[in-house]
Amino acid sequence: MSHCAVCGNAELYKKKDFPHWLGLTILAVACLGFVLLNALYQQWWAWVVLIGSAAFDGLLYLWVGDAVVCYRCGAHYRGLSTYDGYKPYELVVGERYRQERLRREELKQK
Ligand SMILES: [Zn+2]
Repeated sequence: MSHCAVCGNAELYKKKDFPHWLGLTILAVACLGFVLLNALYQQWWAWVVLIGSAAFDGLLYLWVGDAVVCYRCGAHYRGLSTYDGYKPYELVVGERYRQERLRREELKQK
């Protein structure tokens, strides 16, 4: 795949297909568990929960695949057999498309 199927844009980037909220939820639950278990004087279990969740987070991160994302319309493509040739997100390119989007919005309002 060299073009976005939605808008035909040729610039795509790859990123980890890992939902941000999931990582945050795991972290939040682990911290809560850590505090609770410490309050219950279960320090050993508190550390097990904390380190276990960190390990789980890391494994999950390794386990999830990459997704290819379109710079222009943000369409996500998963399950591609090869991700070679796709570069990670570049701020400069992303900024260019953000500006382009802003300009389009501005034109629409006039
Ligand atoms: Zn697109």
